[in-house]
Amino acid sequence: MTFTLHGLPVSSGIAIGHAHLVSHTSLEVVHYVLTKALVGEEVLRLDAALLTTRDELSALREYRPQQAAAEFDAFLDLHLMILGDDHISHAAREMIRTEHCNAEWALKTQMDALVAQFEAFDDAYLRERKTDVIQVVERILKVLSGHPSHVAPTPQHDSEMILVAHDVSPADLIQLKPHQFCAILTDLGGATSHTSIVARGLNIPCVVGLHHARDLIKDRDMLIVDGEQGVVIVNPDKNLLAEYKLRQSQFVLERQKLKRLRTARATTLDGTRIELHANIELPTDLVQVMENGAAGVGLFRSEFLFLNRENLPDEEEQFIAYRTVLEGMGDMPVTIRTYDLGADKQLKGVTRVASNPALGLRAIRLCLAEPQLFRTQLRALLRASVHGNLKILVPMLSGASEILQTLQIIDSVKQELAVQGLAYKAEVPIGGMIEIPAAALALNVFIKKLDFLSIGTNDLIQYTLAIDRTDEEVAHLYDPLHPAILQLLAHVIGSANKANVPVSVCGEMAGEIAYTRLLLGMGLRQFSMHPVQLLAAKQRVLTTNLPDIAQLTQKLLRADDPIKINELLAKLNAL
Ligand code: PEP
Ligand code: MG
Repeated sequence: MTFTLHGLPVSSGIAIGHAHLVSHTSLEVVHYVLTKALVGEEVLRLDAALLTTRDELSALREYRPQQAAAEFDAFLDLHLMILGDDHISHAAREMIRTEHCNAEWALKTQMDALVAQFEAFDDAYLRERKTDVIQVVERILKVLSGHPSHVAPTPQHDSEMILVAHDVSPADLIQLKPHQFCAILTDLGGATSHTSIVARGLNIPCVVGLHHARDLIKDRDMLIVDGEQGVVIVNPDKNLLAEYKLRQSQFVLERQKLKRLRTARATTLDGTRIELHANIELPTDLVQVMENGAAGVGLFRSEFLFLNRENLPDEEEQFIAYRTVLEGMGDMPVTIRTYDLGADKQLKGVTRVASNPALGLRAIRLCLAEPQLFRTQLRALLRASVHGNLKILVPMLSGASEILQTLQIIDSVKQELAVQGLAYKAEVPIGGMIEIPAAALALNVFIKKLDFLSIGTNDLIQYTLAIDRTDEEVAHLYDPLHPAILQLLAHVIGSANKANVPVSVCGEMAGEIAYTRLLLGMGLRQFSMHPVQLLAAKQRVLTTNLPDIAQLTQKLLRADDPIKINELLAKLNAL
């Protein structure tokens, strides 16, 4: 039966492929009672399934992605450990013996008990591990049902598979980078959650906040994903398939055409130079950065180096990662953000989980609370600074005290390096992210003490409008055009320009071409976005005449009626 689901569009493009379900909601198993004579056989059936599952997991090692070998091994070890855990295997066996139930029911019951235990953990990382328990049980159940999991998708298969999940953490998603599914669908998540941001970086269509996709879509269902509209068509008929195949090739053609702009200078019609930089999560993203002709890296979210691992990256490992990016970019600027851990990017063993993590010990707050961890990163960054054009960006600063503490630590790390005779650039620019309303409002100290500013609209919108960016229930309230947001943006951009302090926008708003002209009209001259968005943004810059948009932008900034604001934006974009 054909049906359609609607969610939040996160990453554009059209994908046509088969559903590959992950996570637990499909675990509906029947319960039946066995006669006493069959109990022994049922235990043997369970044991055989456990052995087959163990073989499957071991065989998976052959398919591990090279770039994430360590993480992949850790993930497999964890799954093998869960498989062998008494809470699953032994307890299920006992349950079959005492309650005479079928193996599926015993497994599901044990899994539910274990998941409840994981859910009660304070530590968000541990809480998230319940997903691993579910995945392992799902694998055993598939064996019991006579439909074992595909050990690992072959590359040809991968490119036609659409990942359908209830939720995926940003850490798990980053592991998929080498896998290349052709689209991603999730029930949960907001458009600017870090999961969505990583999905966008994969350069494949992604729709989040679908609510019940994981329940309604079955494994191997044929799907059409329209990442532009946030629409998913399940089991489309021939006509729909033909229509979307056409749209898909049109989209690919458009992208292809944009490639011609790769080496063009991003200059407006009146001759103003605009800097278009790229956001990256890992050094391997440099390939995309180059392919899309970025003029620099405007945001390297360094915290992704810290995820998916048991041990933290030491100074040397970090130094190599930063040097790789700096050398890869030559003399182009590279802005590396000190780690923004906490909230939806938890670090095992270090991040303390608060009841409200987005307002908790996150980013610079965590750095200042764990200065040793911070100093290690700063040492690596400063040592790498001699290999390129580095700028250091500090996330989540709220005011003078944090700025001063940060600058003091940076100075003291420099002194330490000097004493040890280690090279670093003395004048590495230090910038601050403007992503807390307090920072935008009390901007003077940022302008006075820092070398540059970068506006994180994802958090600025989250904190100004009080909407959790990871919660799809409030995703409809996420509104970059809210007058409060527009006033804050205009204020920060205007004040920084007046004081000659470089300012950029590196939140998702920077990559949305619907807002390019508006931001240009506010005086923004530097944008940082996902590499895949760069060429479309450049095209918009190339067709904009700044004197033409000035008046309309001011009018839009004075408006407070949402309908009027949208009308004016449409006019601005139609010029
Ligand atoms: C932002 O908040 O806009 C930003 C760029 O940082 P992040 O999305 O990593 O929180
Ligand atoms: Mg942020």
